[in-house]
Amino acid sequence: MLIGAHVSPAGGPAKAVERGEALGARAIQIFNQNPRAWKPTVYSAEQVEAFREALAAGPVDALLIHAVYLLNAASDDPQIRERTLTSLVASLRAGAALGAHAVVLHPGSAKTGDVGPAIARAGSLFREALAESEGCALHLENTAGAGGTLGRSFGELAALLDAAGGDARLGVCLDSCHMLASGIEIRTAQALASAVDACEAQVGPGRIGSLHLNDSQTPLGSNRDRHADVGQGELGLDGCRVFLSEPRFDALPCVLETPGPERKGPTAEEVSLCLRLREEGLAARG
Ligand SMILES: [Zn+2]
Ligand SMILES: [Zn+2]
Repeated sequence: MLIGAHVSPAGGPAKAVERGEALGARAIQIFNQNPRAWKPTVYSAEQVEAFREALAAGPVDALLIHAVYLLNAASDDPQIRERTLTSLVASLRAGAALGAHAVVLHPGSAKTGDVGPAIARAGSLFREALAESEGCALHLENTAGAGGTLGRSFGELAALLDAAGGDARLGVCLDSCHMLASGIEIRTAQALASAVDACEAQVGPGRIGSLHLNDSQTPLGSNRDRHADVGQGELGLDGCRVFLSEPRFDALPCVLETPGPERKGPTAEEVSLCLRLREEGLAARG
């Protein structure tokens, strides 16, 4: 498992690699555009080169690009749809240029409308975005299930992948906080194994492509997306040990998106705690 963290991309993607190294990360995740503005980033050839050199020289092995939260692939507003498509295509192209493991995206929101048509709208946007880009995978992240957010269950993720045409570049990103908040019990090895079984049965084999480890401030089934530091929430140290040592997660990048003790994001201590919890989890499985 490539354990790592969400880091700032300020100063360019090579700087993000440095920040990851300082945390002891093997995987990093960045936003590729300002989270509050509709302005896709196109990295220069120099930035791409510097990033690739930084990656080759150090311990960071995987990059995830997290699309920003403004995007809503399920929107029925033509302007938001168009902007979402433009941003998503830019993210996928940036991902291809940087050799990213995947672009991770919250699938969208039906707002107050019906879920079925919203899934169809999102699916057709994903199809277009994949057609207008090449090489980079697109991972739909499961959500906590607040409001009209899509992807609150494996069934919804499967319906989204189907609506998107089931392309081989499509996968899912599983977030531990969102799983628990959406009502999926994952805090024992047995419970998590059943959840992964259910996920694979519904979204199809080989589709689980990336992971977010976050503890949850709010309880099972709360449908609220409130990350807590590792071991400090409803998952607790035991739940995090289980998540970090699930055998089917072995080859995947797993990044922390936790608030951190100073609300500045994950720390080196938290990353090293995760390495230890993974070892303890593996030992407990025997
Ligand atoms: Zn997440
Ligand atoms: Zn979240």
